[in-house]
Amino acid sequence: MFKQFKKEYKQVLKNIKKYQKIIVFRHQRPDYDALGTQLGLVTWIKDNFPSKEVHYVGKNHSTFMPYLYPYMEELQDDVFEGEFLAIVVDTGNSSRIDDERYKKGSTIIKFDHHPNIEPYGSINIVYNELSSCAELVSDFLFSCGNKYPLSRLAAKYLYSGIVGDTGRFLFSSVNATTMRNAARLMDVGIVPARDVFDAMYEKDLASIELQKFVLNQFKVTEKGVAYYVLEDKDLKSLGIDSERGKEYLSIMSGIRGVPIWFSVTEEVERGTYRVSIRSKILDISSVASKWRGGGHINASGATLNTLEELPLLIKDLEELIK
Ligand code: AMP
Repeated sequence: MFKQFKKEYKQVLKNIKKYQKIIVFRHQRPDYDALGTQLGLVTWIKDNFPSKEVHYVGKNHSTFMPYLYPYMEELQDDVFEGEFLAIVVDTGNSSRIDDERYKKGSTIIKFDHHPNIEPYGSINIVYNELSSCAELVSDFLFSCGNKYPLSRLAAKYLYSGIVGDTGRFLFSSVNATTMRNAARLMDVGIVPARDVFDAMYEKDLASIELQKFVLNQFKVTEKGVAYYVLEDKDLKSLGIDSERGKEYLSIMSGIRGVPIWFSVTEEVERGTYRVSIRSKILDISSVASKWRGGGHINASGATLNTLEELPLLIKDLEELIK
């Protein structure tokens, strides 16, 4: 157990017991970690406290559902009336929480692994060196002991979160504790190949077309920044939506002499361009913050208002390489 959170874990369990209504939130544009953590926690609460009213909210992901995760609930405003416990997972700052109605929570708990720039919870459990939020929440659930067991379904969701945010245990954030926590989830009885990986990594044909596009289009600057740009017209011709723009970022991850790589995806509905930046070692989070975003040392997100800003972003990233 992460001993530094012993006191907070007790408070969280006390609050889960106290409230009759519990609603679990996560960040906008969800990834495997956000969804896996949210649904893993919801499943565990429902399994162990069957008389409680438990909900989960946020927009659906365009491809993960219903293969790996169930569709989200669509909750009317009246559900958020009266007392309830709001638990927000995997979200560093309040503006990224998918569903503003978290604010109505009588008590708000934050579980996260991003830098704690905004401790918006009444209880904040933040471990920003951890590979995934799913690992943190798994640690909390295991700390509750055998009296509150974890089902195979809950373990499957949490495992998907760890796999997603570690790039299948590839990233530098993976350590022995990550593996031990993943093993504890496997001990519950899940078979990752069958229960998780098949659904996570099965591809549709559009995905292969996107892969072709990325391989044909990506560029590498003289100083070693690799990137690709997907404009709305490209998304339309590939038949995918903007959420999938970063799907093949990892193609650029192992190129010798390329310490930083990113994708740019037009989001016409917002009138902006979504940037996903990754690095081997260099800390890209400050550049991401400068460009209307944020995130982790080696994985961050940013926003461009126009493509004219692209050379400036490249320049900032090249400065890091210097
Ligand atoms: P992405 O490129 O969308 O996969 O995001 C990489 C990491 O950066 C994730 O952990 C996100 O939660 C975080 N992130 C992305 N966009 C933002 C943002 N606008 N503000 C803060 N963190 C972000």
